[in-house]
Amino acid sequence: MQKRKLVIIGSGPAGYTAAIYAARANLEPLLYEGFFSGTAGGQLMTTTDVENYPGFPEGIQGPELMLKCRKQAERFGTEILTEDVTTVDLSSCPFKVVGSKTDVESEALIIATGATTNRLDIEGTRDGEFWQKGVTACAVCDGAAPIFRNKDLYVIGGGDSACEEAIFLTKFGSKVFLIHRRDQLRASKIMADRAIKHPKVEVIWNHVLEKVEGDDVVRSVTLKNVRTDETQKREAGGVFFAIGFTPNTVFLKEQLELEENKYLKVKPGSSTTSVEGVFAAGDVHDHVYRQAVTAAGSGCMAALDAERWLSSQGLID
Ligand SMILES: Cc1cc2nc3c(=O)[nH]c(=O)nc-3n(C[C@H](O)[C@H](O)[C@H](O)COP(=O)(O)OP(=O)(O)OC[C@H]3O[C@@H](n4cnc5c(N)ncnc54)[C@H](O)[C@@H]3O)c2cc1C
Repeated sequence: MQKRKLVIIGSGPAGYTAAIYAARANLEPLLYEGFFSGTAGGQLMTTTDVENYPGFPEGIQGPELMLKCRKQAERFGTEILTEDVTTVDLSSCPFKVVGSKTDVESEALIIATGATTNRLDIEGTRDGEFWQKGVTACAVCDGAAPIFRNKDLYVIGGGDSACEEAIFLTKFGSKVFLIHRRDQLRASKIMADRAIKHPKVEVIWNHVLEKVEGDDVVRSVTLKNVRTDETQKREAGGVFFAIGFTPNTVFLKEQLELEENKYLKVKPGSSTTSVEGVFAAGDVHDHVYRQAVTAAGSGCMAALDAERWLSSQGLID
């Protein structure tokens, strides 16, 4: 079995940035970019304009940005495998990494497998329907887009992030409706109060989203009252799912300590996980910021931490 100094698992902004730094430090990293586990290149492959990533004053398409990052990682000597890591054995160093085709041993590991946005399977919201044409799962990323300006916007959810996203969207929409299936929000009291009291937010209790319709972009939503089954069609300019994310950690089989919400636990201010020599980067551990630029920043941190750890163990010069 081939042996590596550093293996990076995951291919979003975090994984590729870690690869750029590690390759430039002569660690000859091997990166598994995924195949069935998510789109290689990560979440930005599923979006269009990215307007908040520094360096692109006119904005850049998500897939184009990720292909540039991939090329930059390869330019400095990263080897990329288009396959999934199915499991790892972290019981001793070198760690064993089992891929769908290729197994390797590695002295250090960076986990950058990201997170998957939770979406509901509702007519009109799927890929090829209005997903990314007015239906999205990231208010901070997409809220400022012109299609949402001065329109009625609908946020689906009832937790802290749903309240936060609803308040954030009041900057752009004419009115923001928070659709919640129960008669009470799950959010913390402070967040719930802020949303409920906001003059531009209206909570529509005991309702679910049933359908999204439009032409080129979203034009209407149909809501259903879960108590009476009555439906109503309303004008809409955008739909934002705010029902959480699932960090991609299943393949780790609980060998690393997780937070209560299942995100990877890292030592504050570093990328260090509960196993020495294993580092985490990006949305797989970050449930707070969840942005491309923060993922890239933490990819850099993980590569520097891995390099220092390898050096402290006498595994590199
Ligand atoms: C629709 C949408 C629009 C967004 N728009 C913006 C925006 O405009 N600006 C912004 O800053 N942020 C935006 N974001 C958020 C941003 O995309 C994420 O914060 C960022 O991509 C996280 O990067 P990451 O590297 O941690 O992981 P991800 O991008 O999630 O990438 C991880 C990748 O790793 C791979 N992987 C997973 N499991 C395995 C495995 N077992 N083996 C091998 N590979 C694996 C998969 O290919 C996966 O896609 C958006 C997100 C979404 C969903």
